Amino acid sequence: MVSVNIEKLKAIVGEQNILSDPADLYIYGSDSSVHQAMPHAVARPQNTEQVQAIMRYANSEKIPVIPRGSASVMCGQVVPVYGGIILDMRDMNRILEINPEDGYCRVEPGVVDDDLNRALKPYGVFYPPTPASSVVATIGGEIANNASGTRSVKYGAARDAVLAVKVVMANGDCFSLGANTRVAASGYPLEKLLIGSEGTLAIIVEATLRFVPIPKLRCMGIAKFNLLSDAGHAISEIMSSGCQPSMLELIDRIAIVAANKAEKLGLPEVDAILLFEADGMVKEVVDPEVQKFQSICEKHNGFGFEYSYEEKERARIWAGRSKLFPSLSKYDERLASTSLADDMAVPFSKMAETADKIHEVADRHGLVMTAYGHCGAGCMHTKILMDTDDESQWEAAKAAVAEIYDFVQSVGGTTSAEHGIGLSKAAAFKKEKAETLELMRAIKKAFDPNNILNPGKLMDGPDDWVSETQLRYQTSK
Ligand SMILES: Cc1cc2nc3c(=O)[nH]c(=O)nc-3n(C[C@H](O)[C@H](O)[C@H](O)COP(=O)(O)OP(=O)(O)OC[C@H]3O[C@@H](n4cnc5c(N)ncnc54)[C@H](O)[C@@H]3O)c2cc1C
Repeated sequence: MVSVNIEKLKAIVGEQNILSDPADLYIYGSDSSVHQAMPHAVARPQNTEQVQAIMRYANSEKIPVIPRGSASVMCGQVVPVYGGIILDMRDMNRILEINPEDGYCRVEPGVVDDDLNRALKPYGVFYPPTPASSVVATIGGEIANNASGTRSVKYGAARDAVLAVKVVMANGDCFSLGANTRVAASGYPLEKLLIGSEGTLAIIVEATLRFVPIPKLRCMGIAKFNLLSDAGHAISEIMSSGCQPSMLELIDRIAIVAANKAEKLGLPEVDAILLFEADGMVKEVVDPEVQKFQSICEKHNGFGFEYSYEEKERARIWAGRSKLFPSLSKYDERLASTSLADDMAVPFSKMAETADKIHEVADRHGLVMTAYGHCGAGCMHTKILMDTDDESQWEAAKAAVAEIYDFVQSVGGTTSAEHGIGLSKAAAFKKEKAETLELMRAIKKAFDPNNILNPGKLMDGPDDWVSETQLRYQTSK
């Protein structure tokens, strides 16, 4: 049974930085997923020493601690399934150093992605992983979730941007992992273990990140397809032909219809649209990329090609994709958009097959599913649009999701491209990583012998996630 001494926490971070009122705890009991559980307390540390003191106390009493940024994760990663202390890291939000000479910046974990990029802009550089949630996503959350975004196809994910991290361990010790240099070959890259660790290994209190020059030119193009599989084949050829898009996005008919309904965009309701961006310092580099995109799309029956370098025009072309996520719930007012199997990654050559498979499985189970995403990075998003009051739809969703994950794994894909595992995807993750679960548990034990850091997630997450999700939907109505 977990018991938290609130007075002890107040003595560490100050009364104003502790929340224990049930209304506050309720808010801190959920993230952007459908899961919910109550913590015992919320602590808002102001510096590394306070994080260390909290961890020493929690470790001695075996109290769960869940590090949390803005809670924009979609799979229950920051839901405190065993209660305990939520460590809200957002007050540790200083940009400590911007070092253009050596090509890195040092930040505290609570710095918001957009704020960092605003600070970097005058130096002519940007930090590229930038998820679609960059207006709230913190650097700590991005690292611990290995976030990526539309430009990851060219510039990589958080994994590629992190040079070093400073962490507080479960027992309160503080270590620096990695190096500020571009290359480092000195032993195990422990800093990389923190990337995608979902708060289960240590608390990130500082990160050293690399950045890249802001390109002078960006050109956005669009192509339409009457067959989703044609768009899938085009993606595969674009990515294997030496093309270097800075964005390559797919949206299918369901997503197009939803975006039109929500935003009145008047997009042609074809089977698929591909959006392409090329960037660079000179037109001589960007133009050939755009031409290559057009000719490959045409070869695969793409039509209605247009492109622009102008910022306003680029925003117009991009509008359908940028508003997509909230638009999906407008597809059919009787259906709710659920993130039940939402961000698989597959090899480029399997894009067409995967997109078709998603629709074939959905049709067979009487469901509506969409296929879209950062396809140039191999990411295939789906959402199941379903009547959450209908018991039989939950059964159908459960079967459909299991089939889709099995398919993705059979073609060499992986459970999550960017949203992580948390609670929702633990069952599929455990199936995919069955061979290495014990190795992961051994690593977890070395970092956190008392299992206090975000317990019950990843390899220790639930098997029957759908029932749990269904319960939450029903009780929240
Ligand atoms: C509308 C929407 C769009 C999104 N688009 C994208 C997208 O394009 N790409 C993408 O990758 N994701 C996306 N996401 C998911 C999510 O926003 C990102 O993963 C983001 O990086 C999470 O940041 P956060 O600050 O909200 O972290 P949180 O949600 O608070 O936490 C994320 C994980 O990091 C851990 N954590 C947080 N801080 C620390 C720390 N200091 N030390 C150790 N562990 C820590 C938490 O325990 C948790 O496991 C989207 C979410 C929404 C709601």
